[in-house]
Amino acid sequence: MTDTSTWIEHGRGGRAWVDPVGAGVYTVPPARNEPVLSYAAGSPERLRLDEAIRGLRGRRAELTPVIGGERRHTGEVLEATMPHDRRHVLADVHQAGAADVERAIAAAREAWQDWHRWPWTERAGVFLRAAALVAGPYRARLVAATMLDQSKTVPEAEADAACELADFLRFNVANMRRVLEEQPESTDEAWNRAEYRPLEGFVYAITPFNFTAIGANLPTTPALLGNTVIWKPSAAAMVGAAIVMELLEEAGLPPGVINLVYGDPAEVSEIVLASPHLAGVHFTGSTEVFRGIWNTVGQNMTRYRGFPRLVGETGGKDFVLVHPSADVEAVATALVRGAFEYQGQKCSAASRVYAPASMWPAISERLIEAIGQVRMGDVADPSTYVGAVINKAAFERHKQAIEQARTTAGATVVAGGQTNDEQGWFVTPTLIETRDPAFPLLRKELFGPVLTAFVYDDDRWDDALRLVDETSEYALTGSIFARRRESLSEAASRLRYAAGNLYLNEKPTGSVVGQQPFGGSRASGTNDKTATTFHLTRWTTTRTIKDTHVPQTAIPFPRNGTSPQSQ
Ligand code: NAD
Repeated sequence: MTDTSTWIEHGRGGRAWVDPVGAGVYTVPPARNEPVLSYAAGSPERLRLDEAIRGLRGRRAELTPVIGGERRHTGEVLEATMPHDRRHVLADVHQAGAADVERAIAAAREAWQDWHRWPWTERAGVFLRAAALVAGPYRARLVAATMLDQSKTVPEAEADAACELADFLRFNVANMRRVLEEQPESTDEAWNRAEYRPLEGFVYAITPFNFTAIGANLPTTPALLGNTVIWKPSAAAMVGAAIVMELLEEAGLPPGVINLVYGDPAEVSEIVLASPHLAGVHFTGSTEVFRGIWNTVGQNMTRYRGFPRLVGETGGKDFVLVHPSADVEAVATALVRGAFEYQGQKCSAASRVYAPASMWPAISERLIEAIGQVRMGDVADPSTYVGAVINKAAFERHKQAIEQARTTAGATVVAGGQTNDEQGWFVTPTLIETRDPAFPLLRKELFGPVLTAFVYDDDRWDDALRLVDETSEYALTGSIFARRRESLSEAASRLRYAAGNLYLNEKPTGSVVGQQPFGGSRASGTNDKTATTFHLTRWTTTRTIKDTHVPQTAIPFPRNGTSPQSQ
């Protein structure tokens, strides 16, 4: 801490914290979910948001890495553009080179010397203030940046950059207190204690483009537990990351605790993952990239001082399974919302549906009608329902997949299927129907507004259950729709490992922090359930302390048939 009056020097250069306001077994504010604002025309939040949008749109910003609290121009610049207005440059973003990455490692290690000794209450104070800044003075800018940089509509950006982000910060603080309370039993002879130490080294946080909240959560969770971090954000979410960094500094986070490193992912990672001081990786993104990171860590294993913690949330091929007893309107609503909101670019988005033949005509009729009504365009226009996909690579991937569906026997593009890159990377919400249970879009993640339907004969419910379970390698989210209770519970049981987040008569998206802890297994990640006590403990290494009151002074050699105490 910079205020040395609160520290005493001791030993060989070590320092100890002296509580400036008196001792106490502190509680923390109860965590609650941040209320969602409406942004109705003329509302104060809408006026603030419009001003923030004008501010970000009207000025070409210059952003830099933030290493040890320093901002330096590196000279190598990447443009941050708007997906729905692809020639509009929001910012020139300086990219870190090898020397900058080495500086970030050094800065994280240096900051650790102090930060790992900070009392948990002071760390909590920083992140609770950060939550208040998210919900208050930074809200409009965070939401605006998420809209422009990631092409989210207002409700999507509000749910992400304001609510989920504030929730992560608050629930993590409340759950950290619960972790610390978990203490061993003691006896009259000894006081046993568990000390939740931060990991020894630094944590590498690698974040995806699609959620500002995830971008912020991955570096801040380990930091809350006393770790220092190198944060490499996605090249498609650089503007929001800069605002999060600024906010954390304003909240009182000391320099070097989180180091924001923009740069080429492979080059940055090669250097960071080779450091002997790597103590953990906190990743969210695609399965393929996480497998590559895991592999590299494995190859570097003998270099490390310890065994790095690997926490990764990855891809999904999220299902909706419809039983013949389901409610048609509920299914159609869930499919439109679950598959197409934020252009299907949520890891939880519904991308495959298994529907009974008896119901499919009614469901597909509603889907076709809804797709026809969807307004696609500039996300700042309040009537827009979907924006553009994130970048050229995503656009090309979708164009190719839709073309393939058009030319494959046994598959039909039932609705949507248009692409247009004149202004931005636009792909219309698309419904594909196939009779092939192994059709690629039922197996592989496309990560966009394409929903593929497989229609099963009503009397083959059992086969449908097997197909849902076995067709893809992922197990992130899934929904079962049925009014018949026995069928709901049968499906939940048969699909026990098919999803980490299972929804009954609900779309598979929209998990809320503290209510539906998120994460999946199989190829979808390590399923550590964000913002829970389970997740927080991944960033600590516990020391058990036995404090004996009256030490033994005699060796209990065996006499009269009794044996000495072991261990
Ligand atoms: P991505 O895998 O392309 O990128 C994620 C991060 O990894 C980015 O910061 C990127 O720069 C970095 N990266 C890319 N190549 C790398 C390499 N060779 N070495 C190290 N880092 C590298 O993913 P994305 O397009 O940003 O996000 C979409 C993916 O994320 C989808 O697969 C989606 O399902 C997944 N996702 C999962 C969750 C979840 O909670 N399970 C949440 C959000 C997104």
